[in-house]
Amino acid sequence: MRPWSALFLSMAVAAGSVVAAPPAPTALVIHGGAGVITRDQLSEADEAALRADLDAALDAGDAVLKRGGTALDAVTAAVQVLEDSPWFNAGKGAVFTADGTHELDAAIMEGHTRRAGAVAGVRTVRHPVLLARAVMEHSPHVFLAADGAEAFADTRPELERVANRWFDTERRRQQLEAAKEREQRQAAGEVIPLPPGAYFGTVGAVALDANGHIAVATSTGGMTNKRWGRIGDAPVIGAGTYANDQCGISATGWGEFYLRTVAAHDICARVALRGDPIEAAAEDVINRVIPALGGDGGAIGLDARGTIVMPFNTSGMYRGWVKPDGTRGTAVFREP
Ligand code: ASP
Repeated sequence: MRPWSALFLSMAVAAGSVVAAPPAPTALVIHGGAGVITRDQLSEADEAALRADLDAALDAGDAVLKRGGTALDAVTAAVQVLEDSPWFNAGKGAVFTADGTHELDAAIMEGHTRRAGAVAGVRTVRHPVLLARAVMEHSPHVFLAADGAEAFADTRPELERVANRWFDTERRRQQLEAAKEREQRQAAGEVIPLPPGAYFGTVGAVALDANGHIAVATSTGGMTNKRWGRIGDAPVIGAGTYANDQCGISATGWGEFYLRTVAAHDICARVALRGDPIEAAAEDVINRVIPALGGDGGAIGLDARGTIVMPFNTSGMYRGWVKPDGTRGTAVFREP
């Protein structure tokens, strides 16, 4: 029994009344990536458009939770909406690899069962989160990559397939050109700061359902100009995506550092094994452990009471939330 149900029952018994327990609270938190996002780069119209897409993802996930659906269905629904949004680096609008294509990574995990599914280097599946979920539910494996993941997708007719260029957007092509130019100038010895928005934009969702179950999903195009089959943290269970029965985390940021710190698992292990409040665990990993190694980024997560965390050490992180008390919102910068 969840804590508030037990509390409610004992209060009702003490008062000599038998009343139906109120619906258990649910919670949802989403991100559209952390990174170099500054007010002068983002016009008011663009900000309104991408916040509308964050809101649509919250609507999709929260509708599942409010009708008593599972956290797993809620994160799937929210991430699908974000994958279809050209504003974020996942599905449509994913960044380009060095050879001008898209290789998509995604993962999904259910906390109380520790079931998980993940895919990397996917090229033709419109919603990589659905392929990750199919791996979890319809294969004996957890993690499939590249041609093998595509071959597995061929066995699932319910998955929509698209040509790789369907994921193209002009904005991402310009980022690839800028990244290549930067690479050339760096090779010639110049020191150039990161091009704005070139790296991050991964999407993710974490939900707590009315049964007290937690699930998480993350989806990404990875890093602009990536090569050699590079895979980041997002699809790696424990690094960018993790849930146990007390905590769920979806990360976004410089993936190599999240891999090296197994960041999502580190946060959830502190909560489940050491009893750390999720706020302290997430704050320490995201704002101390990762920057101490030279990495940056953020994460979203929640615990079994619906406490939501959204730490980041970059200038912005696209994010949205629906708290257990029903309050909801979206934000981009540090200040709302
Ligand atoms: N973490 C992702 C990766 O390294 C990038 C991101 O968050 O945008 O692939």
